[in-house]
Amino acid sequence: MKLLILGNGQLGQMLAQSSIQLGHECLLVNTRTNKVMPAGAHVALSQSIEEAMQWADVVSWEHEQLDPEHVALAANKLLTDADKIRPLTHRQLEKKLCDDLGIATAPWQAFQTADQFTQTLRTWQQPVVIKAAFGGYDGKSQWRWSPESASAAAEAESLAHSAGLQPGIIEALIPFTKEVSIVGARAKDGRILCYPLVENVHTKGILSHTFAGFEAPDLRLQKAAELAFQRITEHLGYVGTLAIEFFVVGDGEEAELLVNEIAPRVHNSGHWSLTGCNASQFDLHIRSLTNMPFPKLAVQPTLMLNAIGCAEIPTELWQDSRVQAFWYGKDSRPGRKVGHVNLRIAKRAEAEALSKNWTPSLQVLS
Ligand code: ATP
Ligand code: MG
Ligand code: MG
Repeated sequence: MKLLILGNGQLGQMLAQSSIQLGHECLLVNTRTNKVMPAGAHVALSQSIEEAMQWADVVSWEHEQLDPEHVALAANKLLTDADKIRPLTHRQLEKKLCDDLGIATAPWQAFQTADQFTQTLRTWQQPVVIKAAFGGYDGKSQWRWSPESASAAAEAESLAHSAGLQPGIIEALIPFTKEVSIVGARAKDGRILCYPLVENVHTKGILSHTFAGFEAPDLRLQKAAELAFQRITEHLGYVGTLAIEFFVVGDGEEAELLVNEIAPRVHNSGHWSLTGCNASQFDLHIRSLTNMPFPKLAVQPTLMLNAIGCAEIPTELWQDSRVQAFWYGKDSRPGRKVGHVNLRIAKRAEAEALSKNWTPSLQVLS
């Protein structure tokens, strides 16, 4: 089939690689310039975006922030209704969607204006996270606030006037045991396949590393996560790979999942699957769009380390036989994801030691 991906960043490039592997043709659109690009090169083709849309059998995206013009041009070649995805780009609507579907999240409240923000914040007796409704990623456009801080009133006043904050949400700061995500795919004919839950470690709001497949999944939590995945994707009529981030609260038998956010696309916490599984999250996205069979998943323990703001991946890692390294070819600046490294490691303790050892040279956050 002929696939057109909106977006030519690293996610678009990795989707294109899977398309090629699976016998499809793939072009990418630079969504800022509307130029049509071949995979793996930043040269523009002479084809216009309108022509590329005509050429394609299926149009998909690397990121859910869709330009209405692109949606209109793609029309019925987008297999997921873009209007259904829109709530997932607005934190108030995303939380409300979870509430409506009976999926637990952190307690939250919406606000529209600075006055409403101040009034609502006054009612919170516990530490909170304040998030702008639109546009936040990698921990940007969010702030922490505690009523117990000596300067709480002054901080609230200054937050009320933060640029880009209104509208937004106030949510309880969750003392989580860990953060996990489920990545899975729903095919055009409704089949669903999910990876085991993976554990994600964030530093300053940015995904630092993921542990995948080190221990047998907690079946109760896996089932709960897959149920959430099914409810959400069926409600959205979603086709492709989607990720849900969760906080795990409590331990052992008491552990529960709270949804943090939903990403209707391939996701950084699924990058381990390029090395640690017989089918990557990018393969599953392409197979979903083209209605190809899903494989039985064979997961190997894998550590994914993000390269953030560093100039290069150290040579020692490139040379390590356990490593598969990915470099996105982007200009590096602090806090920007520029690559990732997947390591096939048998033991979790060793993966933890490696992440401690390597994150300082791989990550420049600010
Ligand atoms: P992403 O890049 O994953 O889209 P984002 O900017 O949309 O990130 P969130 O996922 O909402 O932001 O938050 C980033 C991280 O901040 C979370 O993974 C978590 O570590 C921390 N965090 C966010 N909200 C809360 C909360 N309510 N309680 C505790 N920690 C939180
Ligand atoms: Mg997010
Ligand atoms: Mg997140």
